[in-house]
Parts: sequence; structure tokens; C-alpha cells
Amino acid sequence: MAEMIQVGVVGAGTMGSGIAHVFARSGFNVLLCDVEQRFLDRALGQIRTNLGREAAKGKLPEAEIEPTLARITPTIDREALAAAEFAVEAAPERIDLKSDIFRSLDRILRQDAILATNTSSISVTRLAALTQRPAQVIGMHFFNPVPVMALVEVVRGLATSDATFSAVHALAERLGKTPVEVNDAPGFVSNRVLMPLINEAAFAVMEGVAKPEAVDQVFKLGMAHPMGPLTLADFIGLDVCVDIMRVLQEGYGDPKYRPCPLLVRMVDAGWLGRKSGRGFYVYGK
Ligand code: NAD
Repeated sequence: MAEMIQVGVVGAGTMGSGIAHVFARSGFNVLLCDVEQRFLDRALGQIRTNLGREAAKGKLPEAEIEPTLARITPTIDREALAAAEFAVEAAPERIDLKSDIFRSLDRILRQDAILATNTSSISVTRLAALTQRPAQVIGMHFFNPVPVMALVEVVRGLATSDATFSAVHALAERLGKTPVEVNDAPGFVSNRVLMPLINEAAFAVMEGVAKPEAVDQVFKLGMAHPMGPLTLADFIGLDVCVDIMRVLQEGYGDPKYRPCPLLVRMVDAGWLGRKSGRGFYVYGK
């Protein structure tokens, strides 16, 4: 694994493009796979912009931008991943879709390749069980924006081997990230703790305890959070927050994880946060 140079990234959206960026930036060759050329074009445009920002901040020599981009090979052919020694899946958070991708990557990838998922809430153990290589399946949970955030939750499924864990832990470090070991459980650590905080903040608003601005001020000024939970919820997307609460509710069977009715109503209204222009706050162009 120390020599590994060819990696595959499946899904070139928000996370996949960020993951491709950090691998290429660290000297890896990256096969970046999506279902349509336009998504790949969008991802490469985004990566170019973000590399430019890093250069402007003095974090990357200007002369490194083109060579870094040249290490990323976009493809709409999943079979191209046969050349990869490691692959990470960053497709939409749907179990049917991820199951299909895992089955096919298991067939395509070399036998010794490690297969990781960037899922936020789907069971790594369950995805691993769909493959012939469950010991080589692991969660590699990056945070948005990937080039900026230091954390990677390295998620051990029930069958994940120590060798796989060590390899992915070392890989995260090679990317300049700080890996944190967690076991596979709904929401891992990040969302298991964060989402109930956001949900409870929504309950406080729903029950008229405080306005969103006041809730956020409490966390910014009282707990030194860089942004309050409701501002963060608007960033993440209220639909994503509700979906993850449902995963926690189902996974733990504990009513304390019920989604706040106000959040559910806002999602029903199409108030999804920043991406729809309105959530707990209103966003202009
Ligand atoms: P996204 O919708 O921005 O990107 C998903 C990409 O996958 C799209 O470009 C889509 O075209 C592509 N795709 C769809 N089907 C595909 C297929 N069969 N093969 C290849 N590509 C396919 O989603 P995202 O926000 O990047 O999230 C991706 C994953 O990362 C999800 O599992 C999500 O839970 C997880 N995640 C997201 C965040 C976040 O803040 N957005 C943070 C951590 C983890």
C-alpha cells in the first residue's frame, strides 16, 4: 500500500470532487468516475477553482495546479477502475444505488484492492457483506469541504481486517488528514452527536424557546462553535438532516432520535437551507 499510486473515486459530486482533489494534490493518480460527462466536467471545473484558491493563499505553488489536474483522469466507464489499487465510493446516499456500485466494483477491482465508502449513514458492514472481500471494505468518511477539513472518520465494519484499517489510516495521513477510528454504528460518531444537536435546536425554535438567531448565538458565543447549529443545518441541507435522524431512529430504535416536526414541515415546504434559498434563514443570490 505504501507504493500505491492509482486510486479510483466513484461519484464526482460535492464530496467525490473534493476527494479526487486531495488525492491528486498528494501525488496519487486518480480515476474519477461518474455517470455523465457533464458531472465530470463540473467536478474538474470545481477542482481547478479550488486549486486556484489554494495557490492564491500560498498553500500550493501555482506551478502545481496543472500537474495536479493532469493526475485526474475523468471517466464514465466504471470498468476503468480495474486499474485502481484503492477505490472510494461517493455516490448519492441511497442504499440501492450504493449496493449496485459495491457489487460491480467488487467484480471490477483487483482482488487485493481496498473498497471504501464515504457514506454518512449507511452501514459499512452491510455494504461489505455484498462483496467477496468484506475484510477489505471500510468507511472513509470525509467532511465537506474535503480540501479544507482535517478529519476523516475511518469506519471499521464488523468484518474489516486490521490490515485494511491500518492501510486506510495511513492513507488518510498521506492526504494530510487526521484519521479517527470509529466502529460501524448508525451515524458513526459525527452524525450521531451532531444531528441530535441540530434536531434539538429545531425543537427549541418550534416550541418558541428562542429564535434561530438566538439559538445560534448561544453556540457561537457560549461554546465557541464557529457557526450555530441552525446555520450549520442550512449548510448541510434540512432534507439531509431529517434523513439522517430517520437512520438514527431506525438504527437505534430509540424515540429520542425522532425528527423534529418543524424540520419535517420545512422539508415538505421545500425549505431545504442554502441550496433552496431558504431554511432557518433566507439567502439572497
Ligand atoms: P452529490 O449528489 O453532490 O454527488 C453524488 C455524485 O454521484 C453525482 O455527481 C452523481 O452524478 C454521481 N452518481 C450517481 N450515481 C452514480 C453511479 N452509479 N456511479 C457513479 N457516480 C454516480 O452527493 P455528495 O454530497 O457528494 O455525497 C456523496 C456521499 O458522501 C453520500 O454518501 C453522502 O452521504 C456522503 N457525504 C456527504 C457529505 C456532504 O456534506 N455533502 C459529507 C460527508 C459524506
